[in-house]
Amino acid sequence: MDWRDLIWCRDLSLKLCRCCRTDSLGRRTAYCSDECRRWFNQNHFWWAARPVALRRAHEPGGYRCADCEGLTDEPEVDHIRPVGGSQQLRNASCYNHQANLQVLCIRCHKFKTASQRARPRVNEDGRPAGRNEMQASESGEERPAQGPEVTA
Ligand SMILES: [Zn+2]
Ligand SMILES: [Zn+2]
Ligand SMILES: [Zn+2]
Repeated sequence: MDWRDLIWCRDLSLKLCRCCRTDSLGRRTAYCSDECRRWFNQNHFWWAARPVALRRAHEPGGYRCADCEGLTDEPEVDHIRPVGGSQQLRNASCYNHQANLQVLCIRCHKFKTASQRARPRVNEDGRPAGRNEMQASESGEERPAQGPEVTA
């Protein structure tokens, strides 16, 4: 499956910037600026999203666990809405939105993974089961502040 099939916050078939949706791409093909490229990578590709999530949780002395709120020096980046063991969803998909990533300590992560196994929360197509909470909770506030405006 192409990774583009696992992106649903943007229609990537249109010739618009993948981040801010401007059509002023000039000679570029996917992003209007390096900033938009960075935003898209950091919200869709595990290799780029993971370090950002870690940085967000980093404090003097360690990483703050989002669950027990303790400090750990062995942080694990967890998908709040789980990828259900899918390597593809983990590598590149809208599951890697920063809003869906949190840092857990090993203990809390183990506990979460164990309890998830009992009740999978993703549909066949990889999208969250039930309501479309992920999309609803993301009204574009994660876009870079000084990104070019979309002109209609
Ligand atoms: Zn852009
Ligand atoms: Zn913890
Ligand atoms: Zn997305």
